[in-house]
Order: sequence, then C-alpha cells, then structure tokens
Amino acid sequence: MSTPFWGPDFDALQQQDPEIAGVVLNELDRLRGGLQLIASENLTSPAVLAALGSTLSNKYAEGYPGRRYYGGCQVVDVAEEIGIARTKELFGAEHANLQPHSGASANLAAYAAFAKPGDTVLAMDLKQGGHLTHGSKVNFSGQWFNAVSYTVREDSELIDYDQVRDLAREHRPKIIIAGATAYPRLIDFKAFREIADEVGAIFMVDAAHFIGLVAGQAIPSPVPYADVVTATTHKVLRGPRGGMILSRAEHAKALDKAVFPFSQGGPLMHSVAAKAVAMKEASTPEYQAYANQVIANAQALAKSLEAEGMRAVSGGTDTHLALIDLRPVGVTGSEAEARSDAARITLNKNAIPYDPAPPMKPSGIRVGSPSVTTQGMVEADMAEIGRLLARAVKAAQGTAAGDAELADVAEAVSALVARAPAYPRP
Ligand SMILES: *Cc1c(COP(=O)(O)O)cnc(C)c1O
Repeated sequence: MSTPFWGPDFDALQQQDPEIAGVVLNELDRLRGGLQLIASENLTSPAVLAALGSTLSNKYAEGYPGRRYYGGCQVVDVAEEIGIARTKELFGAEHANLQPHSGASANLAAYAAFAKPGDTVLAMDLKQGGHLTHGSKVNFSGQWFNAVSYTVREDSELIDYDQVRDLAREHRPKIIIAGATAYPRLIDFKAFREIADEVGAIFMVDAAHFIGLVAGQAIPSPVPYADVVTATTHKVLRGPRGGMILSRAEHAKALDKAVFPFSQGGPLMHSVAAKAVAMKEASTPEYQAYANQVIANAQALAKSLEAEGMRAVSGGTDTHLALIDLRPVGVTGSEAEARSDAARITLNKNAIPYDPAPPMKPSGIRVGSPSVTTQGMVEADMAEIGRLLARAVKAAQGTAAGDAELADVAEAVSALVARAPAYPRP
C-alpha cells in the first residue's frame, strides 16, 4: 500500500484536547479494570476501531452504491458493496442494508416500509422484555401506531404463542414483531411465521440482541422465516455501534427507501466500513467458537447465581443473557446494580416478567456474557464471576462491613480480569 494510514492520532488529541483525551483513557481504564456484564455490550476489535476512526467519516454519500447524490463516492461505494455482500453471505439473506445509524433507526425504517401511522402492530410487552421501539408510549412506535402487546406465560416465563395467535386474530396487525431485549430463551420463528401468514401480517424479527449468535451459527436463524430482520451491529455481533436490515428481495426497495430518504440522511461511511470488517470477522471459525462460548458462559453464570440462592427467569438461558430474579435474596435490582458497580462489576437492573416492583426499583438484574467472552473467559471463570457477583449483591452497602466486603470483591475482580484482560496492553 502506497498511502500510509492517516487515522487516530492519540498524541494529537492529548495535545489539543487533554480533557477529552482523559475521558478516552479513563474509559479504557474502566473497561480494563472491571467486568462488563451488560448483555448489549461487547469489545470491538482494533480493526473495527481503525475503520471507525478513519477519514471515511468525512464523506457524504446519500443514496446507495452507484446511485449517490454526491460526487466522489467511488471509493466509499466499495466499502458498502463489500459490506452488503458479506452480510448477505453470512446470513443467507436476499437483501441487506447497512446504513441504519442504530437499532432504533433500523426499526423506524422497517415500520415505515410496511405500516402507516394509525396501523396496528403486535409486539412483546416492554415490561416483559420487549424494546422501547416495540410500542412504548414514550417512543414513536407507541405514538404513531396502535401497539398491541403480547406477554410471556406466568408459569413458564416463555412467550405465550397461543396469546400471540389470539391477539393477531383479534387485532389483525399490519406487522407482528418477534425479538426482545431481555428474553433469555430461543424464539419459535416458525410459530410466529404461521401466525403472521394466518392474519396476513408482515413478520418482522428484531434480532438486535442475538444476531451475533445467528452469525456464529450458535442458534437458529430467523432469516428463512421473516419478511424483515432488523438488528444492531454492536451487541454480540461485536461490530461498530449501528444498525442493519436484512430482508427478502421483494421488500428490498421499500426498505431501502424507508432508510434513505425517508428516515435518514447521509450514511456514516466509516461505520458502514467498520460493519464490513465485523462481518468478515463474524464469518470465521474463531467467531463461531466465540458465539458458542458466549452461550456456554451465560449458562455457567446463571447456574452459579442459582447456586447462590437467586432465581434465573425461565430456569436458565439458551442465549448470551440471563435475567435474574433477586427476590429470593431480598435485594432490589437497583441495590444490586449499585453494589456491583462498587465492586467493579457493571450490569443493569431489569424488570422481571410480572414484576410487582416499580420500573425504577425492579426485582431483577440482567447479566450477559458477550464482553467477558471476548476477553477469553470460560465456564470456570464464569462460576467465579457468579460467586463474586453474589457477594457484591448481598453486601450491605453503606455499612462498614458491607463496604469492606465490596472493596474486597473489587480486588478479586481486578485479579480475575488481570488473567484475561480487555484490550490487553501490547
Ligand atoms: C438494543 C436494541 C434496539 C436498539 O438499538 P439501538 O442501537 O440502541 O438503537 C432495538 N431493539 C432491540 C430488541 C434491542 O435490544
């Protein structure tokens, strides 16, 4: 290559803007010094970060490869074409759009392609693991559409497919959406497809959380069943922060138009290029091994927490995340989040299905394995993480003994991550 890379120059940042340079270094320290158990996060590779920190960020490229509204797009076109080809190949999809800026933007475009304001959509209840874009009143989806929600069964905590069918027959939705942010089990895409066919609805899968497990062939793919699959690229998939849409060829035009010009302007070409890099990474046997390890690790963590007296919602997990009911140990999700944070374990409080507690003080936490698995943790590490997390959750923060215990756990966490560090120093 004749042109040397002209990219992230951290010395320049430190000289020009020490305040922001300090933030960048502090965040790296935070990642290196603790355990990231947020189920929607991951640790991207240096190759993805290099594409993100490139001059592709400068280019205006409204439109699609070969059909742009600006000149000078010949070079960035190649990145998008490669990215689309890799994505279609990886997921066996007839069409792919890599331009959505985020998962929420991908969902906005998918709704726009298939529904008009006032139409009915059927999706999972936010309180039971659905997403804000699945019909919440504070989101466009709940304000512009008549959103009907399905739930999980109270006994099994699994999606109630009978109820989905009954609601679909009663409300005749334009779109039926499967996919969630806090559902630890596999989703029966075939059952959803049959229900959608019966009522003439579009079947949309919001695979934001688990698309990486699909890429790694660790769980079944929704692509053969869905009209459209929306996803993020930054969760288990481990690419740059962003969104994407996969679909059948018949919907390609409507979806592309719904992304641009309907809901977005110029694509983030540095991010599109970084998505292409992530697709290449996700096509390897190493990534497949990673995806399988992610699931094994989430299962090991859930088991370890159960051994500590907590309850895994639905009895466990088939995916990268577990939802943990803390009522058996008498701690709220908010307390657990704060205590874990003090012990350098980052996770989020989360409502559990049929949670009797208010949303800001829910009964559970959500834990995920994508980041720690990227660091190289395996089942035995997860068992240890579970024991440390349980000690933190049960520590009476604010008392001398509780605070000492949290400091103790924080030290054990430091020792653990030193064995398998995030972003290891060269
Ligand atoms: C994360 C997530 C989204 C939104 O992704 P953003 O990139 O944060 O906009 C949408 N749907 C589901 C199910 C998600 O889990």
